[in-house]
Amino acid sequence: MRDSQRSKVYDWERAMPWWDDYAHGTSRPTYMTLAECRKMIKAMLGRYRCQMVQVKVARGKGSNAGAKVIRLSEQHHKKSVVIHETAHTICVQRHMGDFHGPVFMRVYIELLATYIPTDKAGLLKSARGFGGLKVAAWKETKGAVL
Ligand SMILES: [Zn+2]
Repeated sequence: MRDSQRSKVYDWERAMPWWDDYAHGTSRPTYMTLAECRKMIKAMLGRYRCQMVQVKVARGKGSNAGAKVIRLSEQHHKKSVVIHETAHTICVQRHMGDFHGPVFMRVYIELLATYIPTDKAGLLKSARGFGGLKVAAWKETKGAVL
């Protein structure tokens, strides 16, 4: 399966005000410790009735997620990336893994609305208006989206 929306998803999230969670009066994003990332991942996976994964530091610049492990690079210990990677794990564990496709986007937005938190209707509108980024409707997720 082609991951045709990937670069569009990256462009959209990086353009969003929540991508970097700047502490008041600073220009440096608020980073979490690995333990804080793990705690947040556990809460999100639990909410989706998914199994907890191992959370490790990635060696390179990128982060990635699978059914059993989430690897976060040093500069990705922040809420936005932790939520992005956890959305991948949920999709894979629930057998709806479609890379950066519409179901992934829906799970990602549901998590953002809960954990950033930010306005869900605004997120859906902004994503769908961003070069035609596809976001699955609730009923298309077959109950996977809570
Ligand atoms: Zn991704």
